[in-house]
This record gives sequence, structure tokens and C-alpha cells, in this order.
Amino acid sequence: MADTFDLTVIGSGPGGYVAAIRAAQLGMKVAVVEKWATHGGTCLNIGCIPSKALLHASELFEEAGHSFKGFGIDIPAPTLNLPQMMQHKDDTVTANVSGVDFLFKKNKITPFRGVGSIGGPGKVLVTPEKGPGQTIETKNIIIATGSVSANLPGIEVDEERVVTSTGALKLKQVPKRLLVIGAGIIGLELGSVWARLGAKVTVVEFLDRIVPGLDSEAARQLNRMLQKQGLEFKLGTKVKSIDKNDNGTITARLEPAAGGDMELAEFDVALVAVGRKPFTEGLGLDVVGVALDERGRVRTDGHYRTNVAGIYAIGDVITGPMLAHKAEDEGIAVAEIIAGQAGHVNYGVIPSVLYTSPEVAWVGKSEDELKAEGIEYKIGKFPFTANGRAKAMLATQGFVKILADVKTDRVLGGVIISKSAGEMIHEITVLMEFSGAAEDLARTTHAHPTLSEAVREAALMCGDGAIHI
Ligand code: FAD
Ligand code: NAD
Repeated sequence: MADTFDLTVIGSGPGGYVAAIRAAQLGMKVAVVEKWATHGGTCLNIGCIPSKALLHASELFEEAGHSFKGFGIDIPAPTLNLPQMMQHKDDTVTANVSGVDFLFKKNKITPFRGVGSIGGPGKVLVTPEKGPGQTIETKNIIIATGSVSANLPGIEVDEERVVTSTGALKLKQVPKRLLVIGAGIIGLELGSVWARLGAKVTVVEFLDRIVPGLDSEAARQLNRMLQKQGLEFKLGTKVKSIDKNDNGTITARLEPAAGGDMELAEFDVALVAVGRKPFTEGLGLDVVGVALDERGRVRTDGHYRTNVAGIYAIGDVITGPMLAHKAEDEGIAVAEIIAGQAGHVNYGVIPSVLYTSPEVAWVGKSEDELKAEGIEYKIGKFPFTANGRAKAMLATQGFVKILADVKTDRVLGGVIISKSAGEMIHEITVLMEFSGAAEDLARTTHAHPTLSEAVREAALMCGDGAIHI
């Protein structure tokens, strides 16, 4: 009879693979079941990693065409080698997914290829694409099956002319006119990629603002910056239908969200980026009796336990922000909990980064949330126009905003819009993790000249004032 595993993880995305590694480090005998050919899930294969490879490459293309001159670098107008840019993206993905294979070997984790389903507590069935299935005996199971793109009713995705993020990451040519449905993170990141490479991008958003959840002041400023970059926005608008034309184009029917006259507009490609939904198909959850919530997510308690003993769930398939680092942290926490330790994730301090140019990064409460909750706050806000390094880099767009409690000075949230905002947000994140005050940050020496000095200046503005403004 086959060995019994201490833990079997279904799904090898950032939630699943991290849970497996931590569990193995804590002495468990671990199996991972993955239906795709490579490990790493959405994030490494068709999400975070390939999108960042294209975002970086397309930003360099844009800079070479527009910014080099100002630095005294005269070059002919750059030409796009899209196949090579895609090759860079694919190589980046390969390097990352093979990294997970290496980590599995290093930690003596046993991988199984095929669709995993739960045959009952302690039993995971693996059904490969070809060949016989097998049953894994296991003491514990973690469901880490992630999420898939949400669709709009009546709009058929073919991943060529009407694409999700997956198709938008591998278009064979730059569309002349790209329709982006949804001004959320995916829409703005991938819309930016194709706009930089030459597409005329129109973003249609149901709400009257972009990036729900982002501080509204930062969202307004980002909206203006993206418009300057050539993206057109139709806010308060919905796409009712898309027709595929014989000449290879598509016609979208747009309507004001509040109702009113419809408009027909022609595009070459449409990207549907209206959110993602939890994925539980084929897991056999109904058979074993694992409960879902009203939005189809696996219902868990504060310790990632489902209603069935020995079955846990983490990542995009449960409640909370659909972010890779949230899934990873839950992976560590659940492994520690199964090992009898006190695993924990601080959901109040999970940073978000939008990798547009400039980047936008935020953590904790936004000003809108503080207002809605009636919390008295003070604002320290510092613009990058007053930062020496930003001037030297011709990167003076944006600001740092720190929000602190009026009475205690404790930092409650922060937002940064600037080059490298995604790197800088972590000093506010660490500060918040330690329940720090704005004064703690303001009194911390920052190297000069760095963009991070703007973060310190914003903290100084929560007290006696910034120096350089
Ligand atoms: P997933 O990564 O979705 O992994 C689930 C895995 O389970 C998959 O490999 C799937 O094949 C497997 N699976 C499912 N069902 C079964 C089954 N029955 N049997 C076997 N295997 C199964 N987040 C960020 O934090 N930063 C970013 O920059 C970022 N960029 C993104 C860009 C794009 C285009 C997209 C789509 C997402 C992005 N995300 C980003 C979100 C991020 O990818 C997800 O939050 C993260 O991947 C969730 O991890 P997970 O482990 O829960 O699930
Ligand atoms: P999202 O929730 O960020 O944005 C979806 C947008 O579509 C919203 O603005 C919403 O109002 C709009 N919308 C919904 N229905 C619409 C309709 N019918 N017509 C027009 N607009 C409509 O979702 P997303 O951008 O698809 O991203 C999915 C998930 O992936 C998110 O949870 C995100 O956190 C994650 N992700 C993260 C990153 C990152 O961290 N950098 C990058 C990509 C994706």
C-alpha cells in the first residue's frame, strides 16, 4: 500500500506551493496535485510574472522612444520586435516555474500531475489527462485551486479577438484599436502594455472612477496621467454586447451605466477584465460536503478550516483580496496551523501594487475609508517634484500620502504614486506591522538622494513639517 502523506495540496499557485514548502520545512510529508503542465499557478504562468515581464519591456520601449533624448541619448526611433518581447516573457515564466520544481525537489515534496478531487476526508483522487488515475491517502488536504477570469453575459471569449488576460499576454500583433472592459488592475496594466506598443486603447468602466479600492485622490491623478499616455476612458459606461465582423474586427455596443443612448464602436481586440471568480470545478466538494459562500468561495474560519475536518482552503478560492502575496502568506499560516503552531495573516496590512507607469502602491486604510468610518486622521503629503533623485531621473510625477491617527500619530494607511512605488510601500507596511507612528518614520535617517526620502518627508508632514517644501 502507498505511503500516507501528512498533507496533500491541490493546486500549485503561490498559495499551494508556498504552503507545501512551509509544511515540508516543518517536517510534514507533502504531496502537491497540479493539473497544469507546470507549477506556479495563475501567478507564475499567466498572471503576475508574464504581465510584469511585458510591463517592464514595454516601459523600456516607451522610454527609448520618448525619454532618452532628455538624458542626452540620441538614438533612432526604436522598432518593436514583438516575438522577442514575447520570448523574454516566456523565458521569464520558464525560469520561475522551474524554480518551483527545484524547491519541491529540495524540500522532498512529491508532485502529482492531474486533476485533483476529494474522494472523502483523507482521500485525494488524481486524474491525469492520459493514463490511469491514482488515490493519495493523506491526513490533511489544502484546497488552493485559485481563480479564473470572470466573463460578461453574452460576450464570448475566443482568446484571439475577445480575450481575457491570458490571451492579452500573447497577442501575435499589436492591435490597432484595443477595447479594455474594466478599469481595474488587469485592465490598466495590460492596457498600458499595448498602448505603449502602439495600440489605441479605450477603457470602458462601469463605475464613475478607475481602480475601485484605491484612494480616490490617487485614482483621479492616475486617470489623468494615463490619459496623457494616450489611453481613452469611458467611465460610467458598460459593454452590452460584442459582435465579431467578417473583416476580422469587432463591434462593441456601449451604453451609459445609468441607461441612455447606446453607441457602436469598432475595435480589433477586446480585453475582458471585469474581475476573477474562485475556481472549484471538478474538486467534488459537493460529494464531500465542503460548504461554499454566496460568491462561490470555499467557506473557511479564521484558521483556514472548511466545515469538513482535515480540509483547509487558502488563496483566491477563499475570501479576501485576490493577490499572490495574500495567497502566499495564507500558505505559510495554514502550514503552521496544521503543524500546531500559531499561523496568522494581518489582513489590515496587505500592500497592493498597480504596475502602471508610474506605479501606484497602497497599504492600510485609504482616506475614503477613514472618512466613511469617522476616524479622525491627519495627512502628510509630499510631491516628487520636490525630491532631488526624482528630478535627476525625470520622474517627478506623483506623491506620497501618509494617513495617521490625529491623537496617537499611529500610521493607518499610505499611498504612493511614483516610479518604484511598489518597492517603497514596504517601509510604510513594516511600520504599520509594528503599529508605528509617523514620528518613528520621520526620525529614521533615509539615504540621500533616494526616492524614499519623499516617504520620510510625508511622515515629517504629519508632525512639524517637511523640510523640502
Ligand atoms: P492560482 O495561482 O490561481 O493557482 C491555482 C492552481 O490550482 C493552478 O495552477 C490550477 O491549475 C490548479 N488547479 C485548480 N484546480 C485544480 C484541480 N482540481 N486539480 C489540480 N490542480 C488544480 N497578484 C499579485 O499579487 N501581483 C500581481 O502583479 C498580479 N498580477 C496578476 C496578473 C494577472 C494577469 C492575473 C490574472 C492575476 C494577477 N495577480 C497578481 C493575481 C494572482 O495571480 C493570484 O492572486 C494568485 O495567483 C492566487 O494564487 P492561488 O495559489 O490562490 O491560485
Ligand atoms: P478588478 O476587480 O481589479 O477590476 C475589475 C473592474 O471592472 C472594476 O473596476 C469593475 O468596476 C469593472 N467592471 C465590472 N463589471 C464591468 C462591466 N460590466 N463593464 C465595465 N466595467 C466593469 O479585477 P481585474 O482587473 O480583472 O483583476 C482581477 C484580480 O486580479 C484582482 O483581484 C486583482 O487584485 C488581481 N490582480 C492583481 C494585480 C496586481 O496586484 N498588480 C495585477 C493583476 C490582477
